[in-house]
Amino acid sequence: MDPEVALRKIIHIDMDAFYASVEQRDDPALRGLPLAVGGSRERGVVAAASYEARKFGVRSAMPSATARRLCPDLRFVKPRFEVYRAVSEEIREIFARHTALIEPVALDEAYLDVTENLQGLPTATAVAKAIRAEILERTGLIASAGVSYNKFLAKVASDHRKPDALFVITPAMGPDFVAELPIGRFHGVGPVTEAKMKRLGIRTGADLRAWTPERLRETFGSAGAYYHAVARGIDMRPVRAHRIRKSIGAETTFSDDTAAFEVLAARLAPLFDKVWAGAAAKGMRGRTVTLKLKFSDFAQVTRAKSLAGPVADRASLERIALDLLAGLFPLRRSARLIGVSLSGFAQEEPEGPRQLGLGL
Ligand SMILES: [Mg+2]
Repeated sequence: MDPEVALRKIIHIDMDAFYASVEQRDDPALRGLPLAVGGSRERGVVAAASYEARKFGVRSAMPSATARRLCPDLRFVKPRFEVYRAVSEEIREIFARHTALIEPVALDEAYLDVTENLQGLPTATAVAKAIRAEILERTGLIASAGVSYNKFLAKVASDHRKPDALFVITPAMGPDFVAELPIGRFHGVGPVTEAKMKRLGIRTGADLRAWTPERLRETFGSAGAYYHAVARGIDMRPVRAHRIRKSIGAETTFSDDTAAFEVLAARLAPLFDKVWAGAAAKGMRGRTVTLKLKFSDFAQVTRAKSLAGPVADRASLERIALDLLAGLFPLRRSARLIGVSLSGFAQEEPEGPRQLGLGL
């Protein structure tokens, strides 16, 4: 293993309950209350939940109706992405004072490679401490930080004692830490894979480590190699300062297949919020809308429309997607899945690292 890549100093910064914390910061009347940022309408989706709401089981991406059932006193506020984006820029300016190697993952989350840091602080932990303090001072918001020798472990570390935490996983701790980690806490293991792994007797990193690379590949396909590596605390992915997402999409599979336009349009409706919020959260504006239908025989059809410029708003996304759907009618078979995605992004790049005069 190339020691240069194997032992980087990586910080993962993740703002705590970001959208909800911004809303509570800006409206004192919301502080201490179970709060959901997102649409309260019938088909709304929770974009973010305050810690008070999470106690009731409210989670982001949950349908608002479900959230309200779990927490009848839940307060809803509309997202203000322009405010979140402005805060995000502020925290990125803070990052840029410490390193040029910043990989934003979301408005509230980034990986920083601080193997060499611009302030000449003695350790990555000191850099993480400074960043957390600067974020609090400048934005009034709390960030959790994970410090480790690769991205996988830095992410695990930032999540470990959240909220309001700084946690360090040293090279000496890494392999044991991963061995004890519940499989659902592995970044890259979603709920579906988690369930599958548990059925196969994989509950922790140690269980995962017992599998050969061949068996992992047979069982999990191309993700097998990743699982094999991270089960050992190994992750060679570099921090990429400019990461471009190719598309943001959402889809839903039906319990009952249908060929009716109104039914399909209704099932598409909640996906618009997800896609639009996902793109907004990443500061991305796409100009291509793609609609996907999968039929009961698993055949699939996609239709796409590209505009000259970015899709202006959620309503336009909806209109274009419904036009594309209408163009497929009449259907000769029932559909079992519908999806919509946005692509063709001109990413609003986070401002490049500030040129810091060396030797000042
Ligand atoms: Mg966060």
